[in-house]
Amino acid sequence: MDLPERLNDIRDRITHAEKEAGREDGSVTLVAVSKTFGADVAGQAIDAGQRVFGENRVQEAQGKWPALKQAFPDLELHLIGPLQSNKAADAVALFDVVETIDREKIARAIAAEITQQNRPVRVYVQVNTGLEPQKAGIAPDDTVAFVALCRDELGLTVEGLMCIPPADENPGPHFALLRKLAAESGVEKLSMGMSGDFETAIPFGATSVRVGSAIFGQR
Ligand SMILES: *Cc1c(COP(=O)(O)O)cnc(C)c1O
Repeated sequence: MDLPERLNDIRDRITHAEKEAGREDGSVTLVAVSKTFGADVAGQAIDAGQRVFGENRVQEAQGKWPALKQAFPDLELHLIGPLQSNKAADAVALFDVVETIDREKIARAIAAEITQQNRPVRVYVQVNTGLEPQKAGIAPDDTVAFVALCRDELGLTVEGLMCIPPADENPGPHFALLRKLAAESGVEKLSMGMSGDFETAIPFGATSVRVGSAIFGQR
């Protein structure tokens, strides 16, 4: 399969999973994760109609997306990788959604840049559902209070929660936990599911899935 065929295949599988789960057609957004692939490859996905993309490094995205965003103003770019506060200004200038807010320092830096640049960037709080020491994300027990801080004190538009389950575990319980925490936090959206498990995430309520290698190939 070439790239447009792989993209169509993923779209079909999302539609099928929505139907199986009794969810509305189109209720799950595909975030195409183009990290490590160049602007030419991202351009092939754009030509095939894809408009929402995820990148996990600010610097890499800066080399790839400004020209594409200028050419296609309806593109939506999500930052899905770890963020340092010294990159907050660059992140707010380029991305439409930052999915990896996981500590107060970075939340404050992003909020300050949103005000400074007057760009209405939306955010997700990343949750470390498996409490893995090497992985980013706030602890599940701290999530409700942290969302409240981001939203009520810092004025951030917190759209939802994001997680990356431990690679070697059944992801279902992690997706269920994220959904429960979102309900408790009063946020709507759930960014969960990747190439290997997006069809599992959809019945658990994913509103967006982040799919990279199944569209673009192995990295
Ligand atoms: C790379 C990445 C993805 C996509 O992973 P695939 O397995 O290639 O689909 C999704 N989410 C995050 C946070 C990533 O870093």
